[in-house]
Amino acid sequence: MSRIFNFSAGPAVLPEEVLARAGDEMLDWHGTGMCVMEMSHRGKEFMLIAAEAEKDLRDLLAVPANYKVLFLQGGATLQFAQIPMNLLAGKGKADYVVTGEWSKKAVKEAQAYCDVHVAASSEDRGFTYAPSNWNVRPDTAYVHYCSNETIGGVEFHSIPDVKNIPLVADASSHILSRPLDVSKLGLIYAGAQKNIGPAGLTIVIVREDLTGKAQKGTPSVMDYKQQAAADSMLNTPATYAMYVAGLVFKWLKAQGGLAAIEKHNIAKSQLLYDHLDKSSFYKNSVDKKDRSRMNVPFTLKDAALDDAFLKGAEKLGMVQLKGHRSVGGMRASIYNAMPLAGVQQLVAYMKEFEAKHG
Ligand SMILES: *Cc1c(COP(=O)(O)O)cnc(C)c1O
Repeated sequence: MSRIFNFSAGPAVLPEEVLARAGDEMLDWHGTGMCVMEMSHRGKEFMLIAAEAEKDLRDLLAVPANYKVLFLQGGATLQFAQIPMNLLAGKGKADYVVTGEWSKKAVKEAQAYCDVHVAASSEDRGFTYAPSNWNVRPDTAYVHYCSNETIGGVEFHSIPDVKNIPLVADASSHILSRPLDVSKLGLIYAGAQKNIGPAGLTIVIVREDLTGKAQKGTPSVMDYKQQAAADSMLNTPATYAMYVAGLVFKWLKAQGGLAAIEKHNIAKSQLLYDHLDKSSFYKNSVDKKDRSRMNVPFTLKDAALDDAFLKGAEKLGMVQLKGHRSVGGMRASIYNAMPLAGVQQLVAYMKEFEAKHG
């Protein structure tokens, strides 16, 4: 068996231990003679798997009791619409902070439901920083922001204060990478395929008092209140993805929880950024204080060398380093499951490549 270092932004690398355990349990989960994929979602075995996954996630994030944890489908993209459908509460207006491609998409989708006001934007400098001055309307239903922009590599390192207005975070690409004070947010959501588990599962953590106000016509599977009342099983959930996510939660606990994984992520990202800053051959344009620990975009001095860089990396077993088409260059996504050795190998290769072509 040979495993490569996968720097994909998502679907992304998963912990080897998790994949191995899922493999061991594939044909016979805990003596049931069944794969989890074959189980009824209403059976006692799967109910146990689901309950444990929720409990472990609540433990990791210290989710307060007045928040519901939902295991949904449709990806983060469906949340772009589902959030206004549920949270507008008849107000007809919502404020958005725009820091890159994903928050732009969230705005576009929300515009179908309400009057959207852009409370802050970093477009003036090509989405290379996290704006701190937000011009929020006092009567907005909520404020939405993307706490880690996966494409531009911009991360909010603290939770902005919007007083009593519900704050909504698209945390798809950095959830579980660091401790998070859930109580400062009204709703947090994340597609699983970045830092949680397989694609097909979306996690929503929502303050209970914000639910139960879905607009007329909201499908029942998209109504947070109804899903919460049904333990996310109003219909068949993404059972296998929930099981693998549950294994990832247990893996995170075994690593020492989010404070421990945060240290690991700081070490990995510092190694890479330090090298980017030392070299005049490579460049990352994001303001230092707002750089993402999970997604590190960088360019080479000469874009004509991009292909050679990617091919050389692939030869050494480092894949998916190509940057998003909207920004070009490279992007190394270094989620929880990326070992330090992967980043060390990448930096060593970058030095070697620069020595040859610089
Ligand atoms: C990947 C991503 C999305 C889209 O996720 P889907 O699950 O594909 O809908 C939205 N927001 C952010 C920040 C992302 O990284």
